[in-house]
Amino acid sequence: IGLANTGVQGLKPYEPGKPIEELERELGISDIVKLASNENPLGPSASVRQAIDNAVADLSRYPDASGYGLKQALSSRLSVSPEQIVLGNGSNEVLELVFRTFVTPQHQVVYSQYAFIVYALLTQSCGAKHRAIAAKDYGHDLDAMLAAVNDDTRLMCVANPNNPTGNFIDAATLKAFIAKVPSDVLVVLDEAYYEYLSEEEKADSCAWVNEFPNLIVSRTFSKAYGLAGLRVGYCVCHPQVADLLNRVREPFNNNSLALVAAEAALNDDEYLAQSVELNRTELKRVCDWLDAKGIDYIPSKGNFVTINIQKDAMPTYQALLEQGVIVRPIGGYGMPQHLRVSIGLPAENDRLLESLEKIGFA
Ligand code: PMP
Repeated sequence: IGLANTGVQGLKPYEPGKPIEELERELGISDIVKLASNENPLGPSASVRQAIDNAVADLSRYPDASGYGLKQALSSRLSVSPEQIVLGNGSNEVLELVFRTFVTPQHQVVYSQYAFIVYALLTQSCGAKHRAIAAKDYGHDLDAMLAAVNDDTRLMCVANPNNPTGNFIDAATLKAFIAKVPSDVLVVLDEAYYEYLSEEEKADSCAWVNEFPNLIVSRTFSKAYGLAGLRVGYCVCHPQVADLLNRVREPFNNNSLALVAAEAALNDDEYLAQSVELNRTELKRVCDWLDAKGIDYIPSKGNFVTINIQKDAMPTYQALLEQGVIVRPIGGYGMPQHLRVSIGLPAENDRLLESLEKIGFA
């Protein structure tokens, strides 16, 4: 109706996959395997279910608008003060808060080609300018990103590991990059897949915010903690940045079941370790199989792997779908010849590999 700002008018709507029930009906298959959204295949832990059960009695009350319990728990885990933490409805909302708080149409946002697509969507919805810097081996070219900074640059986004490529930047390289970013340019370090890294690979990034007040580290409960459906993410940043984000944040943005579930998930070290270990062994098994078949893929540090189909990936996507295996085409990321495959349970991964053989891809 011509009322939306120009940025919004140019936006392509996010296209979610069809509901599984609909696909099962369409394809006449009752056991569809979904390996499309980088979810935790284990389902929620027993402690999360218990915490949700216990909280149901209070559902007629509003949630704690400050997220006190979860912030206290995060604060002691991450050795930061609660004033440095902002909670979001998924880390997507944290990203949105950052953009709404800091980015105006006069500003430029710098991110990498093949970076998480939400950075481009948010830049456009703010009507801001963007610089998508050509990728290097599918990953971030940090030097080129620094070179792109100009007087208008307000924000740089770096996902580590990145989705949809799974690329990883080591801690020393990342810290040296952040040190070179001008102090009036914010850096969002998006660590949605942080928990999947080995202890040696994990950067002490939350501690870095004390050194770099322009750094915002975002993480999520959607991946290794297994709570994608509940929508809980957070960021760690300088208290003054957190204060500004909290002014923009809607009160009650996290529902009460999500808050208690996230706290329970954070305290469940065993479930987290089990999730990470399952991903490690199954990612390796899938990649070993791809290696053995001579199929090209991008080495990944996340809970997914992106396969190079070497031609338009849509027919392969469709053929897998007909076998009852849903994977993610990433043409929207400018990668029309790749398919991103999430790592599932062993039996689900078997279905994927068998289906690749069946459709003649392997
Ligand atoms: N960042 C990255 C890099 C992601 O891949 C995702 C999920 N696809 C998110 C952020 C957002 O996840 P959520 O909103 O579920 O926390």
